[in-house]
Amino acid sequence: MSESAASGVIVRKYGGSSVSTAEKIRTIAGQLCERAKAGDRLVVTVSAMGDTTDELIAIAQAVTGPDVAPSAREMDGLISTGELVSSTLMAMAIHSLGQDAVSLSGQQAGIRTDSVHGSARIAEIDGARILKELQSGRIVIVAGFQGLGETGDVTTLGRGASDTTAVALAAALEAERCEIYTDVDGIYTTDPRIVPSARKLKEIGYEEMLEMAWLGAKMNPRSIELAAVYNVPVLVASTFEDVPGTLIHGGEPTMELRKAVTGIAIDKNVAKITIRGVEDRPGVAAGILKPLADSGISVDVIVQNTSDDGTTDFTFTVAEADALRSMELVKGQTDVAYREVTRGGQLAKVSVVGTGMQNGPGYASTMFTALSTAGVNIDMITTSEVGITCIVERDQVPTAANALHDAFELDKAD
Ligand code: ASP
Ligand code: MG
Repeated sequence: MSESAASGVIVRKYGGSSVSTAEKIRTIAGQLCERAKAGDRLVVTVSAMGDTTDELIAIAQAVTGPDVAPSAREMDGLISTGELVSSTLMAMAIHSLGQDAVSLSGQQAGIRTDSVHGSARIAEIDGARILKELQSGRIVIVAGFQGLGETGDVTTLGRGASDTTAVALAAALEAERCEIYTDVDGIYTTDPRIVPSARKLKEIGYEEMLEMAWLGAKMNPRSIELAAVYNVPVLVASTFEDVPGTLIHGGEPTMELRKAVTGIAIDKNVAKITIRGVEDRPGVAAGILKPLADSGISVDVIVQNTSDDGTTDFTFTVAEADALRSMELVKGQTDVAYREVTRGGQLAKVSVVGTGMQNGPGYASTMFTALSTAGVNIDMITTSEVGITCIVERDQVPTAANALHDAFELDKAD
């Protein structure tokens, strides 16, 4: 797509809670008209109003009865209508304020996907129609969360995927920026409900954001990956409060003396599986983990410990909901011999996140000292390019998170 054709385009996305009533849609329409008058060329993606998607799924289940799964194709046709409602209403609201606008379904907007109903992936976007509408001076409203599958049927992109629509549109249109408007006002150093001194960040890198994703604005991780690949700057901000949001980007931090540690990520939904007395030979880890991967279970922290007797202990973490099934899969595989397998729950993951940590020593010891001083026992440790993770008891999360937030002085501005 030629750059000149789309230059100056801004993609905005409004989440379901932002468009849950007629009044909110009118308020947003007013904001969009103001931006259009100021010269922005706007492509706007909306989610379905409020809990519409959940309600549509519930109706589908009600008509088939609890024992029959609704057809995946029909389900996509059904739930894609939620975004058709909000996008058409948004266009009407804009018209009523005297500004030209047009709503497009994902299919009309040229969003092509594979044919995996319920979790389709975007294959390409043909932006011709959107560009034509922009050139006619219209605000273009694109229904989020949907596209046209290879077979010519409507597909949806997975729950919460209007973010993905927005970032993909921004990438395809070579937009200046993608702006995500939501009911929280940005990304925080950690969960403010757990750590009262948590502070809103002005900016954060893509990699760091992927680690922090669930904090504050719950952005869809797929959309952040997409933003990173296409280098789309993403602003996360509040829809109705006029306060600065957080810019997610891939450039150098603007502050020269920026802290190496950006935030503390917390995941309270962790269980571990330990396999003891595993024969120690090549292929063991692959043999144990393959059945889990085949069943779509993602394994997170992995620790292996070789003992002197030629066997090894192997521990990994999974989401609490996957723990039982993971254990069954380990027991069910016949590739790898072992003595026993056990399961431990009620765990949590506490991570110190920051790309700057790679270049300096001492972060790990600061972390471990802070945790031990606070009396928090560390169960497992792992490091990555964007930080250091400890697995701890779930009920110790508040103590651990507050201790780490203090130790890395995250309450103080950069
Ligand atoms: N309406 C869809 C959902 O609830 C998509 C979205 O909200 O982003 O999952
Ligand atoms: Mg939603």
